[in-house]
Amino acid sequence: MKVYFSVDIEGVTGLTHWDEATQSHADYPQFQRQMTAEVVAACQGALAAGADEIWIKDAHATGRNILAGELPPEARLIRGWSGSPMSMVQELDDSFDAIGFIGYHSAAASGGNPLAHTMSSSKIAEMRLNGDRMSEFMLHGYAARLHGVPTVFLSGDEWICAHARTLVPAIETVAVKTGVGDSVISLQPDLALSRIREGVKHALSGHLQDCLFPARDRYRIEIRFTTATRAYRASFYPGAIPVDDVTLGFEHTDYFEILRFVHFVL
Ligand SMILES: [Zn+2]
Repeated sequence: MKVYFSVDIEGVTGLTHWDEATQSHADYPQFQRQMTAEVVAACQGALAAGADEIWIKDAHATGRNILAGELPPEARLIRGWSGSPMSMVQELDDSFDAIGFIGYHSAAASGGNPLAHTMSSSKIAEMRLNGDRMSEFMLHGYAARLHGVPTVFLSGDEWICAHARTLVPAIETVAVKTGVGDSVISLQPDLALSRIREGVKHALSGHLQDCLFPARDRYRIEIRFTTATRAYRASFYPGAIPVDDVTLGFEHTDYFEILRFVHFVL
């Protein structure tokens, strides 16, 4: 069994402030270790369920956070950013049996996490797909669907767990924290690790194909930018539909064209 994990940091246990997600800040190493520990726990769960190959995308900021020496020998780590529109699920293809998301977080314009955002908090105020608020999980879950890979597991804040279950009712989720305004209420970190380990094991022991993202005939994305100048610049993308001074739409039947649009307008 070949498994993929996409790993972010804003949804890991305890993380509360941007300082803790910023590599140059003194508060960062504690959460770099927690991010690493959570993906190690996910790997242990996957191995217990029979995985023999695990690909991991370090998908926060520079893509250079996870401490590679902690990972099991079955793991391959993707560091940095290739420039592919697949972005946080780079190299995912139909050779994978399942994907899990670790450290994921609530979407731009949502509560549930003081660090709620979608792709870029400085550039994007809100993203919607076919009318529904779009999280990074949703953006990349449909990317997994393009390759027929089921999205079997997610850990992160309570908001993103609930959002994931509305998209994929059979997905296994582990909420490690919940945001209240600018604060966070978290599980004890080691308890979070054991829940992630057991959650991944259970998810990969189930009927994986039940966890495919829903297929859609047509995709309409709307991006509300943080400034009109960003929206103006992005409006030159072929097929972009101006909605108002700060909002652009784009429609296509092929989801990869949605990923390409997001890639080039940010
Ligand atoms: Zn993120």
